[in-house]
Amino acid sequence: MTKAPQPDERPHQRTTDTDVLVVGAGITGVYQLYRAREMGFSAQLVEAGGGVGGTWYWNRYPGARFDSESYTYAYLFSKDLFDEWEWQEHFAEQPETERYLNHVVDRFDLRRHIRFDTRVTSATFDDSSGTWAVGTEDGSQLRARFLVAATGVLSVPYFPDVPGREDFRGESYHTGLWPGTPVDFADKRVAVIGTGSSGVQIVPVIADEVASLTVYQRSANWCTPLNNAPITPKEQQELRAGFEDMCEVLNTSIAGFLHPVGDRAAFDDSETERRAFFERMWNSPGFSKLSSNYTDLLFNEAANAEWCEFIAQKIRGIVKDPGVAEMLIPKDHRFGEKRPPFVTGYYETFNKPNVSLVDLKQTPIIRVTETGIETDDGEWPFDVVVWATGFDFGTGALTRMGIRGRHGLALEEYWSDGPRTFLGVQTTGFPNFFFPGGPHAAAGNNPRYNGDQVDFITDAITYVRDHGYDTIEVDAAAEDKWTAMVDRGAADAPFGESSYFFGTNIPGKPRKYLLNSGGRPKLFKEIDKVIESDYKSFRLARSSDRGHGRQR
Ligand SMILES: Cc1cc2nc3c(=O)[nH]c(=O)nc-3n(C[C@H](O)[C@H](O)[C@H](O)COP(=O)(O)OP(=O)(O)OC[C@H]3O[C@@H](n4cnc5c(N)ncnc54)[C@H](O)[C@@H]3O)c2cc1C
Repeated sequence: MTKAPQPDERPHQRTTDTDVLVVGAGITGVYQLYRAREMGFSAQLVEAGGGVGGTWYWNRYPGARFDSESYTYAYLFSKDLFDEWEWQEHFAEQPETERYLNHVVDRFDLRRHIRFDTRVTSATFDDSSGTWAVGTEDGSQLRARFLVAATGVLSVPYFPDVPGREDFRGESYHTGLWPGTPVDFADKRVAVIGTGSSGVQIVPVIADEVASLTVYQRSANWCTPLNNAPITPKEQQELRAGFEDMCEVLNTSIAGFLHPVGDRAAFDDSETERRAFFERMWNSPGFSKLSSNYTDLLFNEAANAEWCEFIAQKIRGIVKDPGVAEMLIPKDHRFGEKRPPFVTGYYETFNKPNVSLVDLKQTPIIRVTETGIETDDGEWPFDVVVWATGFDFGTGALTRMGIRGRHGLALEEYWSDGPRTFLGVQTTGFPNFFFPGGPHAAAGNNPRYNGDQVDFITDAITYVRDHGYDTIEVDAAAEDKWTAMVDRGAADAPFGESSYFFGTNIPGKPRKYLLNSGGRPKLFKEIDKVIESDYKSFRLARSSDRGHGRQR
């Protein structure tokens, strides 16, 4: 880790194109643009993609959908907005979410402040003016007083280093870079590589259309049913009537979900009761299998093993070929150690005659050839290869943006041993730079936590402006404390080091826990302290203080 520079220069002039420059038109960046404008800042947003949506713009693969309940993922800042958008399903499919985010942008007249197809490639803090000079791939330059990178945690697709990947002459797609026009799978020989959350969504959806589907699995996952359903007219009414109550539950939930938290330990129940409870969990929606399960499920080995055995029996009951069923049952990790995927008809897919499963631990890919994939078992020809191989989680986008703080400090260098943050929104040595929805955010329903961060950032920059300051930069001590809290949380986290929440899926990435285990309660507590202490954890400076900035 490189040491953050000490403050010695104060801004003395300010000529900017915009007060606030937001990067990223996902749910977080759009909200930041809205909030900044609401508070009277001039604000612009630049986005590498050609449209609004972030994750829901890039991940257009068949079957892409929420694991969060649609209405809990959506914006909650406007009851009118909530009332006028009728989500069709409890777990909306990608096109609906993309439509929703476009609706929000138009409804609040934000589109004219957004520049698409504009990738930020450099951002340099100018000590003398206290502003950011931001360069884009197309060669343009923008100067902003505040830079907010809402660049996403799962926005940099990862391709494993498989020899020959570029040689393949058929069609090749990453789920996270899916084309805007639908891919025609009809009667094609298709390979899907990867069985994480995206792989298990696409497999059942394309299986009937393709001539053959070969699924390449590196690690089996503990998949449980999503249990999606259309939202009935009665439920639509209840959602509207219960809006305030829903917000209350979401705002007090550690992970931003509605699911009631479990209130019993596994061995408080008899074996028969446990079996019935697990059956209810299996039939419950999405993440409730984590949040509403037995309180000790993730930490009591025996309880976890029993739940895993319950799932294993389900898999054996669904998948007709016992050998395939065994391959689909994880042997190397317990439930919750990795982010568990939720599925609709995934295991059933392996009963179809045109679908086969390859265990990459038994038969690793040797190379991709011009016409297919070669393993120890020989070469298999394909027309289409789908890479469902995940993302560089948490820090991927931020460390690729060419961010340079005071005295040219490179963010990727400062974070070379892992990210250092306060509240997951700022890092020392990079004044007026914020990154809501980046590393050190909480696991769970992302927009709830990211929205809290955006609200905090908006309050902070409003405070800076209204008190006549020009720059705000977190103190090293506050950053040390928050980063140490995140590191300590790693020990108590249910996720194991094999989880991408530790960066383990990316070769060479530091193995650091990337989440705030304390969730929203911890964030709220720290934000309250910051507000009560008049931003004591931050160094605020004004032009007239040049050389003697207010330091606390
Ligand atoms: C398939 C899939 C399903 C998911 N389902 C859920 C779910 O159900 N619930 C949940 O809570 N989370 C889910 N997630 C996580 C999801 O990423 C976040 O919920 C959500 O997208 C966060 O929004 P965001 O605006 O912070 O980031 P993103 O939506 O990732 O948006 C970031 C944007 O920044 C842009 N960007 C990045 N770098 C640059 C640059 N240098 N210059 C310009 N633009 C840049 C990107 O192009 C992107 O559009 C899912 C993720 C995936 C991949």
